[in-house]
Amino acid sequence: MSEVLLQVNNLKKYFPIRGGVFQRTIGHVKAVDDVSFQINKGETFGLVGESGCGKSTIGRTILRLHEKTSGDVLYKGTDLYSLSHSKLRAMRPKLQIVFQDPYSSLNPRIKIGDAIGEALLDHGIYHSKSEVRELVHETLNICGLASYHIDRFPHEFSGGQRQRIGIARALILNPDFIVADEPVSALDVSIQAQIINLLQDLQQTKQLTYLFISHDLSVVQHLCTQIGVMYLGSMVELAPRDELFNQPLHPYTKALLSAIPVPDPTLRRERIVLQGDIPSPANPPSGCKFHTRCPIAVDRCKQEIPAFRDMGGNHFVACHLV
Ligand code: SF4
Repeated sequence: MSEVLLQVNNLKKYFPIRGGVFQRTIGHVKAVDDVSFQINKGETFGLVGESGCGKSTIGRTILRLHEKTSGDVLYKGTDLYSLSHSKLRAMRPKLQIVFQDPYSSLNPRIKIGDAIGEALLDHGIYHSKSEVRELVHETLNICGLASYHIDRFPHEFSGGQRQRIGIARALILNPDFIVADEPVSALDVSIQAQIINLLQDLQQTKQLTYLFISHDLSVVQHLCTQIGVMYLGSMVELAPRDELFNQPLHPYTKALLSAIPVPDPTLRRERIVLQGDIPSPANPPSGCKFHTRCPIAVDRCKQEIPAFRDMGGNHFVACHLV
């Protein structure tokens, strides 16, 4: 029986919209609206959807980089939001994040070795200078960088190498769980494959659990065991990877899958092109939020919010017509 490492229950994150002379709250952006899922130890859960659908906000709210509006986040059964400041700080090394653009979080004047070693000090993990240097060397090597890189500056690295540095900064803290927030989106396809291979290798050797966030279903296909599809702050479908790719149920998932190029040119997949732009999460459509773009919407969809129903086999979907 698999051990649940992370459980997210009915998570909501609303950002206030302020206006008027007194900057009063005049509305909310419902960035994450009642989302639930769990991740087993050693697995990779993929969160996919167009930009602005709330997937990055979920990652940050789990790690308490944003404070939740409501809901629960349980890590090994402990509610992260019930922890005192000091207990949360002690737990932080175990819960790490890798960003899309690690360069933006690196000080251009600080050598890479110091930047990676700094992560230990930031988290109150103290070692002697020589021990830190030794650990940094080891971590750089594990992440596919050479020892001599330790004394180089961020601008001397390529995009792929910078992402390896971002992974090294997380890895040196010996985490259990990593939120990988679009970690390969800014990279060329060949480099993407190298970083995904690195993440897979680290998962095997370090028993890591990932929440892998991407707007690209073809990327999550290689890495993830479970996939959740997000639309406008809500999860519309959740299924084991193969089930989702072979038996997608939600019209939005079908549209996303139809956009993936098929490697075999003799196979044709009908492209479903969604009309219109993604609506504003500050003013989402009534009923099913997808009804303004759904090719099969009926009148009921404008009025009733579809329940997130269990279709069996750990496959859930929110659609009136499924
Ligand atoms: Fe489309 Fe209606 Fe299903 Fe929403 S509930 S996905 S609008 S058919």
